[in-house]
Amino acid sequence: ALTIGIVGLPNVGKSTMFNALTKNNVLAANYPFATIEPNIGVVPLPDPRLAGLAQIYDSKQILPATVSFVDIAGIVRGASEGEGLGNKFLASIREADAICQVVRAFHDDDVVHVDGKISPASDIETIHTELILADLQTLEKALPRIDKEVKGKKTDKAVLVAAQGAQQLLDAGTTLYAGAEAAGVDLTQIKELGLLTGKPFLYVFNVDEDQLTDEEFQSSMHALVTPADAIFLNAKLEMDVAELDDADALELLQSVGVEESGLNQLAHKGFRTLGLQTYLTAGPKETRAWTIHTGWTAPQAAGVIHTDFQKGFIKAEVISYDDLIKLRSVQEARAHGRARMEGKDYVMQDGDVVEFRFNV
Ligand code: GDP
Repeated sequence: ALTIGIVGLPNVGKSTMFNALTKNNVLAANYPFATIEPNIGVVPLPDPRLAGLAQIYDSKQILPATVSFVDIAGIVRGASEGEGLGNKFLASIREADAICQVVRAFHDDDVVHVDGKISPASDIETIHTELILADLQTLEKALPRIDKEVKGKKTDKAVLVAAQGAQQLLDAGTTLYAGAEAAGVDLTQIKELGLLTGKPFLYVFNVDEDQLTDEEFQSSMHALVTPADAIFLNAKLEMDVAELDDADALELLQSVGVEESGLNQLAHKGFRTLGLQTYLTAGPKETRAWTIHTGWTAPQAAGVIHTDFQKGFIKAEVISYDDLIKLRSVQEARAHGRARMEGKDYVMQDGDVVEFRFNV
């Protein structure tokens, strides 16, 4: 499964947030791998459509999609030089499919800031700098090799062009995620280098309670991190929310002016940052959300359930969630021409409720 690595300076609230994430974990029974690794948190992707379908089908259980977070400890200034847990840190981050940076914005004299002041902008820059330096080291090592391979016609010139373009951006202090597209640097050419700043980024600002509804503050933080997405939460509050039942949690959240827990927002935005979407299946046994990459075809989607479904794929009967909820049964959907038979080239859409037909 794809994972999102959580990084950030010490004392910004990473552990607090991560504990809230794993406490929220109502899934342990269905997803036993959730409890194997202490630094992995498997978070359900909230999806109210599942309850709607489960009602129609009288399903015994509901299985939401999940997002996995890895708590990557140990970044400090100098990590790229092997300071602190530097090397281990870089190896863990290399394995992650996206990077979630937690940034401190909350004020609390009892919680020491490593640099002595609260400054989201400079904290972000500190982490970026370490990742950029690590990428520059990777490129310095790789460039002579790529150059030789291109001269020997073993590698396409486009790879060298991309590597040099990446180096220029990084030299100028820009992360590849933020800068590559605008600069016309084709990162797909240098995928094998596993450059850290080329991964999708997502930012979590751990804020004071009054900042949760401060739009001016939030848009200034958004401006710091575009084109990446950002979430604003209070990690201590999230701990409390995670311990309450849904109704009490909502009441607590509303008391500070927000409608959805930060952790739910994190699950949604994390999922999107990874380039994932879901499709749905429903029956008396279970209603379930399945995770696929955006743009996948019906046979690829079928393969997530079972490889045999992909190999023997014939067609998919697809009803949109909205139609099914309106018409209340597959029979009614068919009668109204709202059940579509889709073939092997069909690209899955968000909210598709699917039954696959396949040869065994
Ligand atoms: P980490 O080093 O990034 O993992 O940070 P921790 O989660 O261990 O938090 C460091 C300290 O900050 C702890 O004493 C937390 O209780 C406190 N803390 C975390 N989040 C918040 C917050 O949102 N507000 C306040 N006031 N304190 C927080």
